[in-house]
Amino acid sequence: MLPVDLLRSPTSRQSRIVYSALDVKSWMQAPPSVEAARPGACPGCGAASRPPGAGLGLHGHGLRERQLRGPPTVDAASTTQVVVCRRYRCVGCGAVILVVPRGIAPRRHYGHAAIAFALALWALAGQTAPAVRRRVCAWPVTGAAATGWRTLRRWADAARAALGLADRRAAAARAAQIAAGRAPPLIAGPVWELAYAGGAAMA
Ligand SMILES: [Zn+2]
Repeated sequence: MLPVDLLRSPTSRQSRIVYSALDVKSWMQAPPSVEAARPGACPGCGAASRPPGAGLGLHGHGLRERQLRGPPTVDAASTTQVVVCRRYRCVGCGAVILVVPRGIAPRRHYGHAAIAFALALWALAGQTAPAVRRRVCAWPVTGAAATGWRTLRRWADAARAALGLADRRAAAARAAQIAAGRAPPLIAGPVWELAYAGGAAMA
C-alpha cells in the first residue's frame, strides 16, 4: 500500500468498497451494467459471485449516487459531478458492497486526482493556497474567503499523519510525488499533471 492511499479514511462502516477497473471518466462516459460491474467475489467472505451451476452469489442491490468534486480533467474548471455507483449484496454473508470507479476517495468529497493535484500545485509548484483553491475548489472563491483553504490544510495534515512527517508542506510534496509515480506510463507533463493522472488511476 502506498502512503498516499492513507489519505483515504478507514473503510466505510456501511459498505465495503470495491474498485472497478474503470476510472471516473470512463465510468461516466459509459456507466457499467449490473452484470459488467459485478465483482468476481465477495470481499467479505470470498464467495464467488457467479459460481458455476449455482445462483448468483452477489445480487445487484441498487444504485448509490456519489458527489465528486474537483476538475473532471486536469485542464477543466472544477465542478461537482454525480457518479452513480453500483451496490451488491452477498447472499452468503450479507455484506453490502459498493463498486466505485478508480479515483474515488471513500468518505471524501474530492477525488484522489483533485487532492493529488492540489497538493502538487501547492507543495511542488509553489502556488499559494488561494491560487490552489481557485483552481481546485468546486465553488467560486470570493472576497475574504480567498486567504487560505482549510480543505487543502486538511489534506496536507492527512498526508503528514500518514507519512509520519513533521512538516506539512514536505508531507504534501511527498504525497504528490507518490501520486505522480502512479501516473500511466504514456502520460507526460509537469509533475502536477502526473499527480492528477496518478490520483485518477488510484484504487
Ligand atoms: Zn460474502
